[in-house]
Amino acid sequence: MSSIKKIGVFTSGGDAPGMNACIRAIVRTGIYHNIEMVGVIQGYQGMIDNNFIDMNSRSVSNILHLGGTILKTARCLEFKTEEGIQKAYDHVKAKGIDALIAIGGDGTATGAERFSKTFGIPVICVPGTIDNDLYGSDFTLGFDTANNTVIQAIDKIRDTADSHDRLFFIEVMGRDSGCIALRSGIAGGAEAILLPEKETGIDELIEKLETGAKNKKSSSIVIIAEGDKNGGAYDVARRVKEKFDYYDTKVTILGHLQRGGSPSSFDRILASRLGYAAVNALLEGQTRKMVGLRGNAIVTTPLEEALNQKEFKLEQDLLDMAIILAI
Ligand code: ADP
Repeated sequence: MSSIKKIGVFTSGGDAPGMNACIRAIVRTGIYHNIEMVGVIQGYQGMIDNNFIDMNSRSVSNILHLGGTILKTARCLEFKTEEGIQKAYDHVKAKGIDALIAIGGDGTATGAERFSKTFGIPVICVPGTIDNDLYGSDFTLGFDTANNTVIQAIDKIRDTADSHDRLFFIEVMGRDSGCIALRSGIAGGAEAILLPEKETGIDELIEKLETGAKNKKSSSIVIIAEGDKNGGAYDVARRVKEKFDYYDTKVTILGHLQRGGSPSSFDRILASRLGYAAVNALLEGQTRKMVGLRGNAIVTTPLEEALNQKEFKLEQDLLDMAIILAI
C-alpha cells in the first residue's frame, strides 16, 4: 500500500500536443486509485504563486484531442533560486500534495530532480516536447504531431513549388535537435535536409540541387532545422542563390504552428500510456524517474541518468536513406 494520498500534476516549459491527453490519463488513473488529484497552474510558477486547482474525472473531460495544455505552462526563473524553490515547496506542502508528476522537457526535469532531492518529495517526469531531444524515451509527447504538421505544410508547398519550378527552403523547429527535420524531410520527400548534428556545407548542398536540376526535377525542397550551423533558412537561401539560380527561390519559416494542433493518434496513445505509467510508478514507490517508451515497452529511467546522457536520435539508416531517396 502506498502512503500517497494527493498527487499534483503540472506542465512546464515548452508546450506540446498530447499534454492534455496525458493530464487526463494522470488524473483518471489517480482517481481510480482513490487519490486526490490537484492541478498546478503554470508549472513551477504556479507553485510559487500558490495557484492550484482540485481536479476530478470531469475536469479532464473533452480535452484528449486538444493541443496546448489546460493547466497552462510557463518558464519560471524564480524557481531556479533557493528562495523560489522554498516558497514553491511551502505552498505544495500546505496544499497537502505528497507527490508530483511533471510533464515537460529537460529544463522541467532538471527542476523536478532538484526539487525532489532538496525536499524529499516523490516526483515522476513525463517527457513532453516536440523536439524529441530527451534521453530515456524513443519518442517524446508532441513529436509525432509536429511531424504531421510539417509534412502537411511540405505537401502544400510542393504543389506550388512544382507549378512554378521553384526552390523552397523550409525552416522547422529544432535548435539542437534535427529530429523533426530528418523525419519530416523523409516523409515530405525533401531534396536535402540540414541538421544541427551534421554539417552540410553550402557547396555540398548546391551540388545536390544541381544534380536534381540535371535529373529534371521541377521543384526542390530543402528542410532546415533552425539550429543548423549555416544559419537560418534566409541565410542559406541567400548563399545558395549567389551561386545557383536555376530555380526561383522562396523561404518559409513554419515557426510556432508546429507546436499546436490536435495530437495525432500516436501522441494520444503515448500520452495515455505515459500518464498511466507515471501514476503507477509513484504508487510502486518510485521517485526521481522519467517514464518513457523503448521499442513498444514503457520503461522508467532515473532522472539523473536521463539528464546526464545525450542520445543521438538520428538513426544512421534514416540519414543514409534520405540521401538515396532524394535522387
Ligand atoms: P523545457 O522543460 O521545455 O526544457 P525550460 O528549459 O524553460 O523548458 O524549463 C522549464 C522550467 O524548469 C524553467 O522555466 C524553470 O522554472 C525550471 N528549471 C529549468 N532548469 C532548472 C534548474 N537548473 N533548476 C531549477 N529549475 C529549473
